Amino acid sequence: MFGRILLIMGLVAIALFMLRSALGKSKKTPTAKSPEQARPKTAARLVHCATCGAHLAESDAIWKTGRAYCCAAHLKP
Ligand SMILES: [Zn+2]
Repeated sequence: MFGRILLIMGLVAIALFMLRSALGKSKKTPTAKSPEQARPKTAARLVHCATCGAHLAESDAIWKTGRAYCCAAHLKP
């Protein structure tokens, strides 16, 4: 009897999981093709300042000799 309840609960859980994943796919498909493709457009890649270690967007960083800096003051040694 108890085993039967567990079996039903398991089946319900699997059904809910499948339903959720199916709904999630159908919602995501029209807006974005895949998370990997959407990421570079929305969020820039983060880099570390070579002097203070601060995180900043790759596009906002000041680049010199292959290293990223957060501001002009940290660019100088
Ligand atoms: Zn810095």
